[in-house]
Amino acid sequence: MPEGHSPGSGAAKDQGPRVQSRKSLDQSGQGRKHQDRSGRGRKAQDQRGREQRDQGKGDQDRILQVKKLCHRLCPDCVGRKRRGEHRDLLSQRPHWSVLRREEQHRQIDLGERVPFDIALPLPAKDRGFADTAEGIELFREMFSCQRCGRCCFTPGAGLMLEKGDYERISRFLGSRKKLRALCRYDRQEGVWILKQPCPFYDRSMGCTIYPVRPLTCTQYPLHPPLKEMPFHLAVDAFCPAARSLAKETLGWWIICENNWARLLQNMDSPRFPARTYRDREMTADL
Ligand code: SF4
Ligand code: SF4
Repeated sequence: MPEGHSPGSGAAKDQGPRVQSRKSLDQSGQGRKHQDRSGRGRKAQDQRGREQRDQGKGDQDRILQVKKLCHRLCPDCVGRKRRGEHRDLLSQRPHWSVLRREEQHRQIDLGERVPFDIALPLPAKDRGFADTAEGIELFREMFSCQRCGRCCFTPGAGLMLEKGDYERISRFLGSRKKLRALCRYDRQEGVWILKQPCPFYDRSMGCTIYPVRPLTCTQYPLHPPLKEMPFHLAVDAFCPAARSLAKETLGWWIICENNWARLLQNMDSPRFPARTYRDREMTADL
């Protein structure tokens, strides 16, 4: 997949859309209208601004904490989604995934032209714990590659070869020289970059090095989690099968959101298990 479709270029919000283009991310700091030009008014306004920013940051920290806890404390969320429990919840209260379905789909479809990633309502694997692969397992069960080859033949800046990819593919080709001719070396990063469109893609046969393809290709369309949703799987919106899956699972967010609301309510309870996890490493992977 082209490097141009790199992770982290999109973002997910806590409510509503789970996709956001880079352009709309950049539009956050708009100028204030009706500015009070007197000194006292400006001071009061600055103070209010500071308080709002502090409040906003505090809220963001709490929500991030809740997402971390949700990742560890709601282990059955994958089972509940697998069983389709979101349907009952959706029939009980209005939800953006139903009310704004068309708008959501339109945003997701922008992935055809604009590079961004989409967070999925599935937990990423937690590096600190061995038993958190259910999210990826369900993703793999549901993801159905359309074999369109877009991730292989679309021109891009190149595909970075991970440690081990270079040796494995060279052995498969029977020559390091052959592979070198298809790559460029990035001195700054110290890595080999496979040129794009991928020279190993054949329109009729597909990937001609499939058994030894680069690690990135084996994981595609999964990308590292988004900064705003660091404990959820993220996919490249460029992939049509990933876009279909993102649409199909929009309603699953109601299960996540209910869990988050419950955790937020309980957060200040002295018996809340947050204390158990407060000091543990909480980092998630694909
Ligand atoms: S559906 Fe996605 S993963 Fe499959 S070939 Fe197309 S772009 Fe690649
Ligand atoms: S190595 Fe194979 S799977 Fe990876 S981009 Fe090239 S053709 Fe596609």
